[in-house]
Amino acid sequence: MALFDMRGMLNHAHQHGYAIAAFDLVSLDFLEAIIKAAESCQAPVILSLAESHFEYFDFELAMAATEAAAKRTWVPVAIHLDHGASLQSAVSAIRLGCNGVMVDASTFPLSENMARTKSVVDMAHACGVPVEGELGYVAGVEGEDAEKHPGELIYTSPEEAVRYVEHTGVDFLAVSIGTVHGRMRGEPQLDFDRLNSINQSLGIPLVIHGGTGLSNEQFRKLIERGVSKINYFTALADAAADQIRSNLSAAQTQGGYTALLKGIQAPMQAEMERCIRLWGSDERAGELLAVCQAWRPVDHIIIYNVSEDSDPEAMIAEGRKVLAAIPGVREVFAGKAVKDDAGYRYSWNVRFCHPDVIDSYRDHPEHVKFANNRFRPLASDRISSDFLETA
Ligand SMILES: [Zn+2]
Repeated sequence: MALFDMRGMLNHAHQHGYAIAAFDLVSLDFLEAIIKAAESCQAPVILSLAESHFEYFDFELAMAATEAAAKRTWVPVAIHLDHGASLQSAVSAIRLGCNGVMVDASTFPLSENMARTKSVVDMAHACGVPVEGELGYVAGVEGEDAEKHPGELIYTSPEEAVRYVEHTGVDFLAVSIGTVHGRMRGEPQLDFDRLNSINQSLGIPLVIHGGTGLSNEQFRKLIERGVSKINYFTALADAAADQIRSNLSAAQTQGGYTALLKGIQAPMQAEMERCIRLWGSDERAGELLAVCQAWRPVDHIIIYNVSEDSDPEAMIAEGRKVLAAIPGVREVFAGKAVKDDAGYRYSWNVRFCHPDVIDSYRDHPEHVKFANNRFRPLASDRISSDFLETA
């Protein structure tokens, strides 16, 4: 199990002057290539799923595979929702296993961006999950992301950044200092002085979106000025597409889907390894395993009996629905004893994503209402306890 708290990972990178790669994945080929690249470089990595890509794959199914990959690898990873559009997106992502979320309200005026971001931060922090905000506007010029990020680039102002971070409580900040999503037209002009003053005044890990097309020198200067997470996708998608195009000419007369996709992982993996080494996160996995908090779920377990003449079915059905919707709850198992003579006949097993959910769940108004009005009147005899997954 190598799922880790992203705060520890990015704070370590910020303090030690390197950046952790956040590669967006859109298929199993991407996921496998990311893990292979991170393992071969002994690097921490962020498995990133962008809401703007959800039209290309089923987020819930992709999360099951992503979580399985995270549990299987030995390098430290975090699973991040990239460009979440709403509070509900963040709640769903946490339920499905993301342990970091980005809220992107950067197209709204500052006051609305702050209000929307703060509502996500309040919810996510109650679940133990860190949040990345975005201030300024990283536009898209060309490439797949262009239509998702229309408009002109707006630079992040250092004064606004201070207000934004203080007001919202975000853990990491995506800044706009001259990069764009997708491919660049010409040489990108980055405002390093602006980045420097943002970093000086905030002191939290900074994030760059739109890493494709930057020079080695530009990456080095970004990282020196507090950039600790770099989002990277377009160049990987291009590497995969080039491979498919070359397969196409070879497979013109024979071969189907699998022949077209053959070998697409290798060029993606090569590009990712180049980035990981360039950004200095290679051979950092061991250090991080020693200093970062492992990300562990908690099971909130209740076993209970109901009074002789009561029929608990309706209460159980309602509880399943109400409790599963509370932020930080991953799943709700309602059980009935297999044997008739069991000491306790019924159970709830509510899985929390993080120990912080113990408190926020207990105090959540929907839980309080259900427990007081529906559950406790029926379940007079009950035992409950919270269990943290052991290492
Ligand atoms: Zn982005």
